[in-house]
Amino acid sequence: MTQTSPALPAERRRTFAIISHPDAGKTTLTEKLLLFGGAIQLAGEVKAKRNRVSTRSDWMGIEKERGISVVTSVMTFEYADRVFNLLDTPGHEDFSEDTYRTLTAVDSAVMVIDAARGIEARTRKLFEVCRLRDIPIVTFINKMDRESRDPFDLLDEIEKTLALDTAPVTWPIGRGQSFAGTFDLARNLVRRLDADEDAIPVSGPDDPKCVGLLPEHEREAWLEEVMLAQEGLKRFELGPFREGHLTPVFFGSALKNFGVRDLIDSLAEIAPSPRGQEADKRLVTPDERGMTGFVFKIQANMDPNHRDRIAFMRVCSGRLERGMKAKLVRTGKPISLSAPQFFFAQDRAIADEAWAGDVVGIPNHGTLRIGDTLTEGEDLAFNGVPSFAPEIMRRIKLSDPMKAKKLREALQQMAEEGVVQLFLPQDGSPAIVGVVGALQLDVLKERLKAEYGIPIDYEQSRFTLARWIMSDKKGEVERFSDAHLSSMAKDLDGAPVFLAPSAYQLSYEQEKWPDVTFTDVKTYQ
Ligand code: GDP
Repeated sequence: MTQTSPALPAERRRTFAIISHPDAGKTTLTEKLLLFGGAIQLAGEVKAKRNRVSTRSDWMGIEKERGISVVTSVMTFEYADRVFNLLDTPGHEDFSEDTYRTLTAVDSAVMVIDAARGIEARTRKLFEVCRLRDIPIVTFINKMDRESRDPFDLLDEIEKTLALDTAPVTWPIGRGQSFAGTFDLARNLVRRLDADEDAIPVSGPDDPKCVGLLPEHEREAWLEEVMLAQEGLKRFELGPFREGHLTPVFFGSALKNFGVRDLIDSLAEIAPSPRGQEADKRLVTPDERGMTGFVFKIQANMDPNHRDRIAFMRVCSGRLERGMKAKLVRTGKPISLSAPQFFFAQDRAIADEAWAGDVVGIPNHGTLRIGDTLTEGEDLAFNGVPSFAPEIMRRIKLSDPMKAKKLREALQQMAEEGVVQLFLPQDGSPAIVGVVGALQLDVLKERLKAEYGIPIDYEQSRFTLARWIMSDKKGEVERFSDAHLSSMAKDLDGAPVFLAPSAYQLSYEQEKWPDVTFTDVKTYQ
């Protein structure tokens, strides 16, 4: 058996997510990307994929009812000698916390834009999250087969609203009804919409094999457009792309599976391999021998027959081997990785080994939490997985007081999975749950009933805001807490949280206590 160095398998990994506004075509594009990877055999599977997702999470009636995907999952496939890990994110903004956490586990992102609509609100928000970590972005302008906006206009909008340089790699030949293919601006290649073949070399845009695809009356204007694009717009450069300042742009139609090959080829070629990950003590690089990773997502009951709980962990360094013992840094206890799993489009399989960049599912019964770090013994904690101050807070109304203890346990579990946040008031009054999006409350209610047999309702809480508090001044947090006993709570990790009835009250306290910092984002550990 030949020994491979850990650096090599990690270098083959491309771990990415797709960011977009709902309806821009993320599902359709995902589906087509998976086709290239051979992960699924049949075209036209969008429906099938949706069905699969909902059967897998049948327990969650609301997902079915409302037709939204609440599930974040990962899909692994191979293409062009690369192992792609595509991390799926929920489309609905009420689950944005989940999406933000998922984005901490990727090395690049594909931004899908609807050619008729341009940059939309959610795309911009998700882009900002990527920017915080300088994640390189590849842009796919979708739905070119429909009436769409002028390509210059779209590029200009990306540059202006996102402050991101654009470098078109392909240029659309026609739009809407007359969309006939794309022209590769730097390499003089044409890809035709009506032919499922490799791109063909041409002498230039004026080659009849290129411009000839358009109706006669559109040709002259199009040639001018291409000349302008070639001369006036930026060319792709790897450095600025990798730093997150410039995005290569592809035009296409996910529905018609057009332009997708160029996109995936470019991901294989230019998207970065796993990056180093910041931990509390040092930067961990993928080529280190020791295995490390962090949990960014917990999903319960993916398979209703097994009532299992899967922690999704991004491997950050080394080699994860099936059967190995890892250290759960939060508790210092060992955890046996006896059945780590890889996920594919329709399947999952036991992973015998995984490398930096891979995302593995670790079945467990509640040992692992979001934000947890696993290592081969080293005491370090990755600190990038964020928790956001809730925007909605509720008290839970329990009709059957006999179930109070069971409810406490259930809430603790739901909070560990990241379904909601849990705040335990210091004065002993009932627990408060906090969420970023209202649908999370529906999910909690549904799951408490379906999985634990606890029917609940919600009551208004007198608090509307929660802030984690800390201070550089010794004893200050304790002094603040003592002075505000009835407004103090502990979060899941026991960190002190100040609950405020109004923004006014919060700013009043902030002014009065200048040595206390009130934060609305907490990173785990
Ligand atoms: P998501 O919400 O971003 O996942 O979007 P979907 O992939 O579900 O697509 C939303 C709608 O747009 C669906 O009806 C798709 O069939 C349609 N769609 C997606 N891509 C294209 C495209 O390239 N051209 C056209 N005409 N429709 C598309």
